[in-house]
Amino acid sequence: MHQTKCNNCESEKFTVYLSFDKPPSQIVSCQNCGLMYLTPQPKKDDRENVYNEFYFKRESSNKKNISGYRSYQEDQYIHNFYFLRLLKKIKRYIRKGSIFEIGSAMGFFLDKASKEGFDVEGIEISKYCVDFGKKELNLNIQRSDFSNYKTNKKIDVVAMFQTIEHLPDPKSTLKKANSILEKGGIIIMTTPNQKSLISKLFGKKWFEYKPTEHLFYYNPQSMTQLLKLSGFDKVKITRDLHYLSIEYILERVRYYIPLFSILIRPLEKVAVLAQINKKLIPFDKGSMLIIAQKNEK
Ligand SMILES: [Zn+2]
Repeated sequence: MHQTKCNNCESEKFTVYLSFDKPPSQIVSCQNCGLMYLTPQPKKDDRENVYNEFYFKRESSNKKNISGYRSYQEDQYIHNFYFLRLLKKIKRYIRKGSIFEIGSAMGFFLDKASKEGFDVEGIEISKYCVDFGKKELNLNIQRSDFSNYKTNKKIDVVAMFQTIEHLPDPKSTLKKANSILEKGGIIIMTTPNQKSLISKLFGKKWFEYKPTEHLFYYNPQSMTQLLKLSGFDKVKITRDLHYLSIEYILERVRYYIPLFSILIRPLEKVAVLAQINKKLIPFDKGSMLIIAQKNEK
């Protein structure tokens, strides 16, 4: 069985943390630098077949029998609030310019960034997502793997949200991202934090441990190391807060615990009357937000 070397430091010595039967694989931590990763990695086809239409429909739709688009439309104000916060953080570094998103999914972030005045472009391997982004949002999204991407342009901001942990060779990806960045350009990423409170609470049952999907499990230290090895500095890592609306929380409780419907229905009415149904509550799902700058060397 081919074992995978540590992507950060190239050591082949690791300690097994978790074992899976399907597919036979292990999550291990590097004995030299502590990076956690899946070994052996799934084959390219098995990896990419995960990201079909249903993957994205399931991810984007929170209600049964409602397509991703409709659900997105309904909850658009929540996504907008989140993306605007990210764009505000970006604007602290780069007020206007170009944003390139790796793994742009259906293009919701790019759509918002474009409306905020950025020139936007994306790359994505899922055909379903690329078709959606082009047709419905009129975005410039290429269907390809970033390792095949060619350009002469220099970009101001590279964005990668919940993507790096899915990639087979993050260090190569970040080096390439670095090479297309303008001097002083930044990278902004989110990824599950293996040292987050929620990860510690769940231990080996942490919901982010997903063989075939998640190949790397970073914490602030291993992420900083990866960025420094890939030509970045001024690494800033904070919590990646998400937001839920009161109406969404109540609807979810009703969905998962039908017995509570009788209690939840009146609460939903009260929330509407009190005009707090669309109030957003911050929610820490154990993800980290990373911003780093291309180094001057
Ligand atoms: Zn290592």
